[in-house]
Amino acid sequence: MLEGLVQHDFPLNLQHVLGRMRGVFGDSEVVTLNGDGTTRAKYSEVCQRVDRLANALDSLGVKEGDRVATFGWNSQRHLEAYLAIPCMGAVLHTLNIRLFPDQLIYIANHAEDRIVFVDDVLVPVLEKMAGEFETVEHFVVMGDGDCGSLPNVIRYEELIADQPSTFDWPELQDNQAAGLAYTSGTTGNPKGVLYSHRSQLLHAFGTCLADAMGLQAFDRVLPVVPMFHVNAWGIPYAAGLIGSDLVMPMQFLQAEPLAKLIEEERVTIAAGVPTVWLDLLNYADEHKPDLSSIRTVIGGGSAVPLALMQAFQERHGITITQAWGMTEMSPLGTVARPPAGLEEDEHWRYRDSAGRIMPLVEARLITGDGEEAPWDGTSTGELEVRGPWIASGYYEDPTGRDKFHDGWLRTGDIASIDSQGFVKITDRAKDVIKSGGEWISSVELEGELMAHPDVAEAAVIAKPDERWQERPLACVVCREGASLSAEDLIEHLRPRVAKWWLPDEISFIDEVPKTSVGKFDKKVLRKRLEAGELESEPVSQPA
Ligand code: ADP
Repeated sequence: MLEGLVQHDFPLNLQHVLGRMRGVFGDSEVVTLNGDGTTRAKYSEVCQRVDRLANALDSLGVKEGDRVATFGWNSQRHLEAYLAIPCMGAVLHTLNIRLFPDQLIYIANHAEDRIVFVDDVLVPVLEKMAGEFETVEHFVVMGDGDCGSLPNVIRYEELIADQPSTFDWPELQDNQAAGLAYTSGTTGNPKGVLYSHRSQLLHAFGTCLADAMGLQAFDRVLPVVPMFHVNAWGIPYAAGLIGSDLVMPMQFLQAEPLAKLIEEERVTIAAGVPTVWLDLLNYADEHKPDLSSIRTVIGGGSAVPLALMQAFQERHGITITQAWGMTEMSPLGTVARPPAGLEEDEHWRYRDSAGRIMPLVEARLITGDGEEAPWDGTSTGELEVRGPWIASGYYEDPTGRDKFHDGWLRTGDIASIDSQGFVKITDRAKDVIKSGGEWISSVELEGELMAHPDVAEAAVIAKPDERWQERPLACVVCREGASLSAEDLIEHLRPRVAKWWLPDEISFIDEVPKTSVGKFDKKVLRKRLEAGELESEPVSQPA
């Protein structure tokens, strides 16, 4: 082999992000919302504090490979932990504050966390379980609030106060572990995804591409998606790499404070799950805040309803760009930037997809027979992916091995892919409704139901059926003040979906149950159905 004469050994690690924040983007800023206003710091100041934090962790005995956890909202201090911990060779473990106590105890013990950084406002949540964290030696409280009954507490500011503002950063290997996040999973124990420096840096690089999130140095980016949820979709590292300002919302994730933050901080890119944007839309319709600074909103984590995207575009001139991914993918896999020059309908068809496969990510569709399905836009199969920021296994957990085979990750999503690499997620493998040997997409039915102006939310689950095996049951939440009958909804659906997809029953419910991370929790609905607690109206359907 004739080897290329380039610097193959150039390190691909997060110290590069820190270096750019310090050396190139010292004037970029991070703004953190607090109860009374905002706290601001330039990246140059953040980097000095990162050095002091690394010195402090070193003095607490943190060694390379040690897991150091955070239990916090999006803030400047959390950003400092994001940088200091991996750049000193330790592993940043972001605990998801929304998980159930049993899951968190399992996770902290499984990861063998040595230190936990916690926001003062979250002390009441953490203290209930802290006694059962077997390996944690110190709790570092971020903020001046009460430390409650937490043992071995150190205050963040006291911890770093007298530390030198330079640190002797170690040489790191690209493959060295940098971050750890657990997926809550639907069965069994949560599973750890262990990111490396290389995977995080390449993912940040990919995130910045114009056809991905498209961060630029002039942007002011608001990650509404929490830093305890797949690294806030990689935004903190991407922003550091490219020099965007960061606007951190802490726990103020309701529509009103978010709208004010966007208005006052002139946010240009915001990212979060669809429920956040749904609330913001309602708020914006009523209060007309000035959202004109926004270039794009990134929506993902679950399907972004087409009606929501269209409403934002038409009524507020805001483009919501849909993205798809998962914890095992760092998380970004696809982003829906439609081709130029399309007719309106075609344009929206692309916007309504999960998006085009990102560079450095490869995908394939595997059918029930184990065959590869063609990229024709209609054939479906389980979506499998591989690439440099895709997990190759779970951390110290052999039970999840079946998710990985031949170098591919089984995503558990059913999808089609068109000839241009645009992916359409039709369902979760476990949510698809198998009716008479054919598949009905619960996601598509939900999208069509939610396009009805009087429907606030809709979740479709499979109801066991003697003749067809399964039939769709639609659980619908009406908008306040609206009243709908099962027949109204079927009439609405009739021109939009195949006849055999029409639900036989509609259950009107007050709210769709959500998981700890805000996704529709169909497990709960299935359980209610099984227990006979889901009342429904049958629909009379003329043949
Ligand atoms: P995250 O933590 O990023 O939400 P999870 O690992 O919890 O990731 O969940 C990933 C799953 O969320 C995907 O496999 C998919 O089912 C769903 N998902 C994410 N984004 C989308 C999207 N844009 N459209 C449909 N489903 C999505």
